[in-house]
Amino acid sequence: MMGVVRNWRVELIEAYPDLFRPPADFPGAAQGSPECDAGWYDLLDRLCVRIRAAVQADGGPFKLSQIKQKYGTLRVYWDGALSPEADAQVEEVIALAEARSAVTCEICGEEGRLRDGAWLTTRCATHAEGRPVVEARSGFENMHIVRYVTGGNRFVSCRRYDRENDVFVDVDPATLGIEED
Ligand SMILES: [Zn+2]
Repeated sequence: MMGVVRNWRVELIEAYPDLFRPPADFPGAAQGSPECDAGWYDLLDRLCVRIRAAVQADGGPFKLSQIKQKYGTLRVYWDGALSPEADAQVEEVIALAEARSAVTCEICGEEGRLRDGAWLTTRCATHAEGRPVVEARSGFENMHIVRYVTGGNRFVSCRRYDRENDVFVDVDPATLGIEED
């Protein structure tokens, strides 16, 4: 397993120096060095593969500036100047990684659930330490709802995260009782 001998954060940074842009002699000091546990290594690795594809095709400057756990799920921030298309691609693959973090144990990488306690965490049953699951409203499990305004019109995007296939599946807002106008 990763992290047994080497530091998994350093391994990730050294695998993607074009995204982390670490100091030459001290990769562990990269600004974007992940502030989360090793269970999310795999989803971060997938994320870096996808970001690299978008960034290399674009050619613009890019740097991961912060990767952390907040309220139990992943947050990823970056600096750079990409075309609108590449920017949208990067934001989409970050959304996928953040959605995956919400169903992946931060300790071991197995399937997990968001859990309550002194603070929010995403954990499998083995690593839950008695913390209760935060139950989503029925029908809203793994649902990611984004409201936005374009050209003066309000829209809502509803997507369910499919962990097995690591994709978003569009859901008709009307089936959730959400009105679009
Ligand atoms: Zn676990």
